[in-house]
Amino acid sequence: MEKLVIIGSGPAGWTAALYAARANLDPLVFPGRATGKDLLPGGQLMLTTDVENYPGFPEGLKGPEMMELFFRQALRFGTRVVSDDGVVTEEGVSAGLFTPFQNVASIDLSQRPFRITGDRDFTCEAQAVIIATGAKANWIGLENEQRLAQSGGGVSACAVCDGALPMFREKPLAVVGGGDSAVEEASYLTKFASRVYMIHRRDALRASKIMQKRALDNPKIELLWNKVVTDVVGDDVIRAVDLEDTVTGESSRLDIDGLFVAIGHTPITAFLENQLDLDEKGYIRLADPYRSTTNIEGVFVAGDVADSVYRQAITAAGMGCKAAIDAERWLAEQGID
Ligand code: NAP
Repeated sequence: MEKLVIIGSGPAGWTAALYAARANLDPLVFPGRATGKDLLPGGQLMLTTDVENYPGFPEGLKGPEMMELFFRQALRFGTRVVSDDGVVTEEGVSAGLFTPFQNVASIDLSQRPFRITGDRDFTCEAQAVIIATGAKANWIGLENEQRLAQSGGGVSACAVCDGALPMFREKPLAVVGGGDSAVEEASYLTKFASRVYMIHRRDALRASKIMQKRALDNPKIELLWNKVVTDVVGDDVIRAVDLEDTVTGESSRLDIDGLFVAIGHTPITAFLENQLDLDEKGYIRLADPYRSTTNIEGVFVAGDVADSVYRQAITAAGMGCKAAIDAERWLAEQGID
């Protein structure tokens, strides 16, 4: 029987674990299993290069480095994690965030204590749960996009993971999207590519002003406005994308050797099987916008899985802190400490 189980291992999950461990709740974390490139322990920051906007790090640091620090800080105060070898503490995670960790295969929130089953023969019961599973990258949804993404044929949702591969060196590449991620990916790719096209479906970027300037000022980045990708061309590797102009309807073909899709994220809530209130996009709905409570007492939420607006490491960490404090107070009210 666990007092508190935390599901997820981004800034929200580890901050919740840190606060819960220091409050003597002896938290148990399911960090999750690396499945493909869009789901991995440590979360989205594992796919980021430089983090320059997290307070306290004036020189910035790498995303994976930052998540390892979050992880180590939570472990230092006694946080336990569910690995493939079962429940382990600091000594059992010599590979850091690259240790094989279990995913939650199913969760039953209809009974108390809640019942949580891992994907490697592990089940536990918990008085309280914090869900901090984050969100994963979206794809355009084209058959050839998926085929070439899965075969390593030059289509990716993560420039930081794949951009440095030899196949992309000194080649023309394209990024789809107009948000901060698209600009970040395009800027990163200019280190390797001969040219980077940003394909955006409108005539204005969604990205913040400072990021927009970064893209517009970069001589290697060319903006293709009002364009959507209608097909990805290539047998074993991508050769081109077919585009359609969203204003004129005109079709064109752009020859490229790599396509990076950066069109937002989907919250990881499918495993909840609609046991919690979700909004229309699948994000967990907060019962009170200033708290971390959900429609089920004893279930708290933190980070991008409940935040389609801010989606920053700092806001996720802040929510993780709130969730741990809310869980601690709720458990105390139930006479569990
Ligand atoms: P986002 O802000 O939601 O932007 C998604 C972009 O993809 C939008 O430009 C959108 O077009 C486009 N898009 C969505 N679906 C599409 C589709 N099916 N086909 C073509 N284009 C499509 O997502 P994000 O860029 O991943 O950013 C998410 C959050 O993380 C934001 O809050 C952002 O500020 C933050 N972030 C910050 C940094 C940083 O500060 N360094 C870096 C990365 C992300 P429309 O504009 O037309 O909707």
